[in-house]
Amino acid sequence: MSRVDPPQRKPPVRPAKGVPAADERRPETVFAGIAIAPGVGIGPVFGASEPPAEITRNKIHAADVAGETARLDEAVFISRKQLTKLRARLAVLPEEGQAEIAPLLDAYLLMLGPSRLLRGARRRVAELLLSAERAVVDECEAIAATILANPDDDAVGLNRRAEEVREIGRRLVRNLTRQPFRSFAGLPEGAVLIAESLRPADAALINPARLAAVATDEGGADGHTAVMLRALGVPSVLGAAGLAEAVRPGDIAVVDGSTGEVVLNPSSLRLVAARRAMTAFARERQRYARLRRLPAETLDGEAVELQANLEIPAELTLIARAGGTGIGLLRSEFLFMNRETLPDEDAQTETYRTIIEAMGGDPVTIRVLDWGGEKDIEALSAAGIVPEAADPNPALGLRGIRLLLRAPELFETQLAAILRAAVSGPTRVLLPMVTTIGEVRAAREVYERVVRRLRRRGERLPDPIPPLGVMIETPGAALSADALALEADFFAIGTNDLAMYALAVDRGETVLAELYDPLHPAVLRLVQFATEAALRMRMPVSVCGEMAANPKLTPLLLGLGLRSFSMNASSVPKVKLAVRTVEIDDCARFARRVMEQSDPARIRDLVMGFGRERGD
Ligand code: PEP
Ligand code: MG
Repeated sequence: MSRVDPPQRKPPVRPAKGVPAADERRPETVFAGIAIAPGVGIGPVFGASEPPAEITRNKIHAADVAGETARLDEAVFISRKQLTKLRARLAVLPEEGQAEIAPLLDAYLLMLGPSRLLRGARRRVAELLLSAERAVVDECEAIAATILANPDDDAVGLNRRAEEVREIGRRLVRNLTRQPFRSFAGLPEGAVLIAESLRPADAALINPARLAAVATDEGGADGHTAVMLRALGVPSVLGAAGLAEAVRPGDIAVVDGSTGEVVLNPSSLRLVAARRAMTAFARERQRYARLRRLPAETLDGEAVELQANLEIPAELTLIARAGGTGIGLLRSEFLFMNRETLPDEDAQTETYRTIIEAMGGDPVTIRVLDWGGEKDIEALSAAGIVPEAADPNPALGLRGIRLLLRAPELFETQLAAILRAAVSGPTRVLLPMVTTIGEVRAAREVYERVVRRLRRRGERLPDPIPPLGVMIETPGAALSADALALEADFFAIGTNDLAMYALAVDRGETVLAELYDPLHPAVLRLVQFATEAALRMRMPVSVCGEMAANPKLTPLLLGLGLRSFSMNASSVPKVKLAVRTVEIDDCARFARRVMEQSDPARIRDLVMGFGRERGD
């Protein structure tokens, strides 16, 4: 079934507030979903389903094309009005919610402008004689399929973009069929909201203070709805199949947003455990909140830098809340996604400036475009920068710095924008997918040429100009780190790709997932070699791959000599806690022991047992 055609739904269920007497309760039922936003919520269910939109499959007559196109245009007009109204109401949301939903609504509005979606839908009406609804649904599915067909290492971004397209399709269909939208008007205080699916725009209407939890049948861990719910801080589970169908008026639910479990009509024992979990979670929150103001330093006073990775500007507010001190990896790909033309120098400058200013003096490391044949390259191929034909082995092909050095205009525009924005605060420039010193030298030449050109143009630039660093994310780079250290101003170790290339297992692989092991001694030795090469040169070195976000690995990485980590913002408190409970000497001894091992399983045991072995 098309994801744009909502499945048959029951009419809304609005149970009375309060918990029914035990003898009226139905038996306990447990549903497994995806843990989205941590915390436990208990409350009466509020079922919020939408009636299905009817879509005719009959073809229209050629004479009706103009009328059908006019219907489509009217639905576009209404949808734009709704979204603009929603945007105006954002001010009532918490800051994080605003930061997440505003760019999303803007993206929707863009799709309702002169977009591929509307061009395609109109063409389907005119050429295939489809009804406007069918044309929208088919075009959305075609676009979503193209987006998802790109085997990409950033599946998260792809899923999100596909979902955005489908979501705007659902809105158009609803307006075409004049079906009512979901209303949260009768939502009782303290209820658990249960639905088959929840749009990000619906999530924007939720008042987190009035709601115990959210659980839905559909949705994934990394979609916008998930990001939104996390930003709102509502305990949430998505993807709990069969849940919405099972709820009845009067049911109560326990939603555990940390484990992904949803229990309808919990037993008394389950309720006691859930209440305990709620208390424990509240305590943990308080502990993390207190941590935000405490320094990231080991028991023996060694300072450690904990920064955030940023993939979309919406995450900016989370960084300060988590206590991150700047951005250790700004993945600039978001600037180039979801568009048909490349962002120009001024547009890029503005975005970088906003981010740098938001960091209020904390450093921002901007990685220049890490794009490859395997990623969605609509704007790049439209600009004739990359070949249309798919790369037979994209991970080993035109990616990162390789592409940039072959597309000087693209590279120079981005460097110029970063340099101009860098007057707003401390900035560093990072090169992705480096394998040889020749690439670093060539990149530096381009960088210096851009500096000279901007100076001639009379642009104000920072003095000194931002350092130029290298991602250590290929075995080639790691093993020539001593030579690269002579060319680069800093290293950022990308353990995600480093593990993939060292172990010859795709990082998105599921069948061979157990072979993708950053604790494999080969990966650790590459990290160690690169770290030591940097430290010998007294050059800054950080880890910005997923290893940095795992507090279990913090002692080992500290023991290898690393003092700077960049990770998703929500991991900062956990890693800070890990930093604050160790001594550097213990970590160094521990790292020596680990590095003597050859068996990844043994290393894992050691890593998991670190605290226990010390007797804490
Ligand atoms: C990495 O490879 O570890 C890294 C941080 O870069 P990305 O995940 O963006 O490829
Ligand atoms: Mg990488």
